[in-house]
Amino acid sequence: MEKAASYRFDLTRYTWLRRLLTSRWPQFILRAITLAGFVLVILTGFIGSPVGSRNFAVMFVWIAWWSALKLIMLPFGGRAWCSICPIPMPGEWLQQGWLVKPGGKMFNLGLRWPRRLRNTWLQSAGFAAIGLFSALTLTTPVVTAWIFVGLIVVAVAVSVIFEQRSFCRYLCPMGGFIGLYATMAPLELRPQPGLTPVEKGAAAREWPRGCPWINNPAALKANANCGLCLECLRTESGANMALNVRSFDAELGQPGAFRLDEAFLSLGLLGSVMIYSAVFQG
Ligand code: SF4
Ligand code: SF4
Repeated sequence: MEKAASYRFDLTRYTWLRRLLTSRWPQFILRAITLAGFVLVILTGFIGSPVGSRNFAVMFVWIAWWSALKLIMLPFGGRAWCSICPIPMPGEWLQQGWLVKPGGKMFNLGLRWPRRLRNTWLQSAGFAAIGLFSALTLTTPVVTAWIFVGLIVVAVAVSVIFEQRSFCRYLCPMGGFIGLYATMAPLELRPQPGLTPVEKGAAAREWPRGCPWINNPAALKANANCGLCLECLRTESGANMALNVRSFDAELGQPGAFRLDEAFLSLGLLGSVMIYSAVFQG
């Protein structure tokens, strides 16, 4: 039986909201705040109390942030966290040669990510590796600090060598599972319905260069790989894009929406829930 059309409401029909979203400054300020928190976490991880339950880094990251991410940001905002995440910031500054928007000398080889690795297997492996040592991470603050230092060093290195946000798209250990959750989120960035072939053609020429997540937004049908960075709203064809609220099941049942690597990631997440429940609750 054919699935009934899902509910969608275009938030960007409100001019004031579209203006707010197309300005880079509000997003930059939020990202600057999360970057300051990120630096604080690294510092307190290295020089704070060595006892996990008394250390800001452990309590903030693995209790406060992790809970907020799983209970609020992912279910209601999908990749909303990725839109203000500080981890890719230094790499982006090098890529665009400026802090807020492209404008300076770029430090980037711009290589394409290897075709065989364009999937979520590496992300799943990274997530599993962090999960495997979670008992150590939760009790030893310096491990949390090193994880964060490692993430930012790898993100910068990947940004210098590869194009756009290849790190987020193919390597970030959180990126894979956030993308999976985002498929059921009630928020999406999509092309306006009813774009003419001419408008789609123009968008296709403009957007692959402009989308940091290496999508063609004019053809975007799924949330998994859209980091809600809002850059497509800021292009000349930005009026053809919309930020919609939608029903939670809007993406379920879409043909071709799920892949083998994503299916394995889902099984891995389910397995980790069962293992953690058994280990931590006896
Ligand atoms: S994919 Fe990872 S590094 Fe990239 S924005 Fe999302 S959480 Fe941050
Ligand atoms: S440019 Fe648009 S389609 Fe690309 S990641 Fe950002 S919000 Fe998503």
